[in-house]
Amino acid sequence: MAKKPENKIIVVGGGLSGLMATLKICEGGGKVDLFSYCPVKRSHSLCAQGGINACMDTKGEHDSIYEHFDDTVYGGDFLADQLAVKGMVEAAPKLIKMFDRMGVPFTRTAEGVLDLRNFGGQKNKRTVFAGSTTGQQLLYALDEQVRRWEVKGGVKKYEFWEFIKIIKNKEGICRGIVAQNMNSNEIVSFPADVVILATGGPGQVYGRCTASTICNGSAVSAVYQQGAELGNPEFLQIHPTAIPGSDKNRLMSEACRGEGGRVWVYRKNPQTGEKERWYFLEDMYPAYGNLVPRDVASRAIYKVVVHMGLGMHNPNRVYLDLSHIPADYLERKLGGILEMYSDFMGQDPRKVPMEIFPSIHYSMGGIWVDREHHTNIPGLLASGECDYQYHGANRLGANSLLSATYSGTISGPESLRLARSGKLGSPLTQEELEAARQECVAEFDKIRNMNGPENAHKLHHELGDIMYKYVSIERDNNGLKECVKELKEILKRWDNIGVTDHGTWANQEAMFVRQLRNMIIYAMAITQSALQRDESRGAHAKIVLKSDYDKMDDQLKEALTKKYGKFHFDAETGRGTTDDGNDDLVFFERNDKKFMRTTIVTFDQEKEEPVVSYREFEHSLIKPRLRNYAVAKKE
Ligand SMILES: Cc1cc2nc3c(=O)[nH]c(=O)nc-3n(C[C@H](O)[C@H](O)[C@H](O)COP(=O)(O)OP(=O)(O)OC[C@H]3O[C@@H](n4cnc5c(N)ncnc54)[C@H](O)[C@@H]3O)c2cc1C
Repeated sequence: MAKKPENKIIVVGGGLSGLMATLKICEGGGKVDLFSYCPVKRSHSLCAQGGINACMDTKGEHDSIYEHFDDTVYGGDFLADQLAVKGMVEAAPKLIKMFDRMGVPFTRTAEGVLDLRNFGGQKNKRTVFAGSTTGQQLLYALDEQVRRWEVKGGVKKYEFWEFIKIIKNKEGICRGIVAQNMNSNEIVSFPADVVILATGGPGQVYGRCTASTICNGSAVSAVYQQGAELGNPEFLQIHPTAIPGSDKNRLMSEACRGEGGRVWVYRKNPQTGEKERWYFLEDMYPAYGNLVPRDVASRAIYKVVVHMGLGMHNPNRVYLDLSHIPADYLERKLGGILEMYSDFMGQDPRKVPMEIFPSIHYSMGGIWVDREHHTNIPGLLASGECDYQYHGANRLGANSLLSATYSGTISGPESLRLARSGKLGSPLTQEELEAARQECVAEFDKIRNMNGPENAHKLHHELGDIMYKYVSIERDNNGLKECVKELKEILKRWDNIGVTDHGTWANQEAMFVRQLRNMIIYAMAITQSALQRDESRGAHAKIVLKSDYDKMDDQLKEALTKKYGKFHFDAETGRGTTDDGNDDLVFFERNDKKFMRTTIVTFDQEKEEPVVSYREFEHSLIKPRLRNYAVAKKE
């Protein structure tokens, strides 16, 4: 009997999504070449602290899958594909049971049932956790399972290899990749039936962020430049509670607030004039208090610190306070991260309030995929944080470990189905593989020999500073236009970088220079899509300028007056500011009629510029309503 052809899938990325996809492919009888910058069990998923959402309802709160669905769609400000979200929340309890069977040491109550904690934007306790090292426990469990397949010959790992680009066949179908060994610097082409990208988020585009230094978005940018569409790249999550650092920002998980942590600053009591603690989130959002979603909390902290000048110390911080909670309870629930704070800050958060500020954390946007995780390039799938699915305009905390693992359970089997469909066109020829390899070798040699005056790391810092300045918590069209200009300049300056290491062994400097170009191009896609989205939705909050207001139709103008009352435009900045004595900024309202659409960004090869358009998506299950966390959620 003829031997059945073996299906070979390339999975790039060994975080939760890549490992889950790998496991599912092996279980389905396929073989995997698995690529990662680092040993897969050191992937960024390891850093996840707080937990993973699933309706387990072990607290008798009558939590329901529907409630999880609604919280996610509402939290995402109605920009997530609702059928995709429904699939994810329905699968969540089964995934937890699967991880439990794999031996993940989830924290349990004294009775032995799964413990749950609160997380932002959800009234019910729904977050399953393993102390404050949940990501590590999940990743190690999947790593163990994948190793079993590795021993059986189903998986070949390429750790310390960098993905450079995909290779398409004559029919334009993705049938392989080019990757580089980070030690020997050897560049090799790898053929496959199908390729899955699970390369995580792009935090490094902003320089200092809570994510690992390998979360650079370079792979996503590379396939974007080869024709993959990006979805909603303007939606970057800024986490409210990070420890700012000169090298990187470090997260203090939302679990702190989930376990009772309170955010405050000092202020003068408006009535008595006495100095007092102001628990401003509890004041501004009585229904959710410290557990408002991240976009809302970050904006409030920014307002209190930057606009009201109430931040502590210099640079400005607010307090995240756990000191009122018994130390043994904190140890059991949050031990891992409290130790981290003590190590980096030299203070014990069990005794004194922590000092925190918002930081870039996560990308809701990424490679556009359909519900089966196909990109628009046939033969290329994407899953995990690198795709755009599930979180709309704002992700709820603890929904990402869920989307990363769940999407792997979709992309894995789907890649096998595609591999067996007979719709892959012709396999890559030796000539095609070699041509793709040669192209990357030539590019690397060119980078290795760059000898201009610019320093790549300095340029990266500048890139991050620009992105923080113009495309973070508050955005406006003048700033975004300026950002587009400055990014073009940075891209030009990239050509004048000087590389100090011209060698061909472990030349990570040259590899970084290649990544940097990809980061700049990704930054341009983020900025251009932010510029074109003239509304505020989730993490994208845009201030109204006089020039915007003058172009608005009467209906939009009326909506602003209804919300803000009288306002004027600042003579210097052109920004709308209220006349009610609070000097609040005036933001665009959410505009469902025009912008309840997915942003699609394609790359114009010739101009090296992003091209923005919009696409309809499925939102028929839950009718859009205004998001307001000052009051309890209404359905
Ligand atoms: C500090 C922190 C705490 C978090 N805590 C939580 C939490 O408690 N709950 C929650 O739900 N979410 C949390 N998140 C978010 C969550 O951790 C991530 O979104 C999720 O783990 C992403 O998983 P992933 O598999 O998509 O990617 P990752 O785990 O980032 O894995 C990406 C993989 O791709 C590889 N890779 C990338 N580029 C290349 C390339 N060019 N070549 C080769 N390999 C490449 C990497 O080596 C890695 O193996 C947290 C995030 C941060 C920053």
